[in-house]
Amino acid sequence: MTLETQSFETLGLSPALLRALAETGYTTPTPIQVEAIPFALAGHDLLGGAQTGTGKTAAFGLPLLQRLSKETPPKGPRKPRALILVPTRELAVQVSDNLKAYGKYLRLNVTTIFGGAGMQPQIDNLRRGVDILVACPGRLLDHMESGHAKLDAVEVLVLDEADRMLDMGFLPSIKRILARVPKQRQTLLFSATFEAQIRALALEFMHDPKQVQVAANNTIAETIVHRAHAVDNARKRDLLVELLSRRHTDQVLVFGKTKHGCNRLAEQLAESGLPSVAIHGNKSQAQRQKALNLFKSGKARILVATDVAARGLDIPNLPLVINHDLPMVAEDYVHRIGRTGRNGASGEALSLVSPEEGGLLRQIQRMLKADIAMDTVAGFEPSRPVRLDTPIPKNGGGGQRRQPGGGRPGARMGEQKPGGDRAPRMPGNRGHGKPADRGARAHAGPKQHRGGAGKPQGARRDTRA
Ligand code: AMP
Repeated sequence: MTLETQSFETLGLSPALLRALAETGYTTPTPIQVEAIPFALAGHDLLGGAQTGTGKTAAFGLPLLQRLSKETPPKGPRKPRALILVPTRELAVQVSDNLKAYGKYLRLNVTTIFGGAGMQPQIDNLRRGVDILVACPGRLLDHMESGHAKLDAVEVLVLDEADRMLDMGFLPSIKRILARVPKQRQTLLFSATFEAQIRALALEFMHDPKQVQVAANNTIAETIVHRAHAVDNARKRDLLVELLSRRHTDQVLVFGKTKHGCNRLAEQLAESGLPSVAIHGNKSQAQRQKALNLFKSGKARILVATDVAARGLDIPNLPLVINHDLPMVAEDYVHRIGRTGRNGASGEALSLVSPEEGGLLRQIQRMLKADIAMDTVAGFEPSRPVRLDTPIPKNGGGGQRRQPGGGRPGARMGEQKPGGDRAPRMPGNRGHGKPADRGARAHAGPKQHRGGAGKPQGARRDTRA
């Protein structure tokens, strides 16, 4: 059966799930859902090459809900039968919200566990009984150590955004958690990239997994126009104010480098008459959710975010993304601008580039295999030109970064080989689909700045923003 003829019915989902999906507004399954759901329903372990935006949550969530709903829970207080490990609290909330929507007609309890929120409400939820636990590794360990989270009834384990969890240094915690989950279980691992560490994790903890892969949906849309303004670091904020004032009706997502920087930027924008909200890792969960809701509902026009805080968030399509600072990691550029130009809409990605960031720009252009047109704005000309051969500062002038494969933080990034070991590839390079960077690698030589970047993606490194 071809992908087009697949429906949720033909995938073998139960009437209760079909009804909820119809109410959610999903009419046809996405490619990752078509590929993954039958394997997962059949009880196989699964390695999914997909990232946020592809519909991966339903790809693992629907089979999981179906499985748990068919079984009678063991007697006594309900202990989690499914554990979903996620890197961030935002993703935990998002996954849990999705599962609750899909499982609307099932009697299954979903609860979240993450840091930055009070322990007691989480303990109370665990005590009340949980079927599905969506958790960030660190806080889950706390609850395990205090005896509140018991994982001996887990039948299905999901590692969501596994590459990102590893990037964030969660591997030791994940291993400790896995040691406490029954060996007899189904394991589903989703990751945008499959580097050595992920392959090792899969080999160690999975049983003969089926492999499915879809191209990232945050490929660079042809409809995005990439532009850059050369400007001195010290003048970036003024230029941003100028640009935001000119585009006074558009919703804009502004990316900054550090938590502190984002905070200051949001405050300064507000002082300039441009009310903004900020999300980053130093904000409490409630603050982050509030800011995000304000932005999503259109009540806030400007959202200032760090990469990690914004990753995985279901932010609506936007006309404009501004990079106040260039990302230290070229792939983050793709994630950032993936918020604009969706579904054929036109979008604009605008980067403010200081002379110190020339090397970072070169890194992005290399990955895109395209040049980004750069100009200056009258009155904001930089004191010296932006040169692409500028060395990349060790710490990028910002927070710490991890190297792919757990290298030392702050090491130089300029030497990455495009399409090298960072390319998303399934273990053993078997399985369905094609490496999601194939399109990117097929293009040789520089191109102009409009789209044409294929599907670049690869390892990601994050600061804990
Ligand atoms: P995810 O990759 O799971 O974060 O999903 C990305 C977005 O796609 C979310 O807003 C989902 O609600 C939505 N979504 C997932 N599956 C479908 C589908 N089959 N049809 C329409 N929207 C979907």
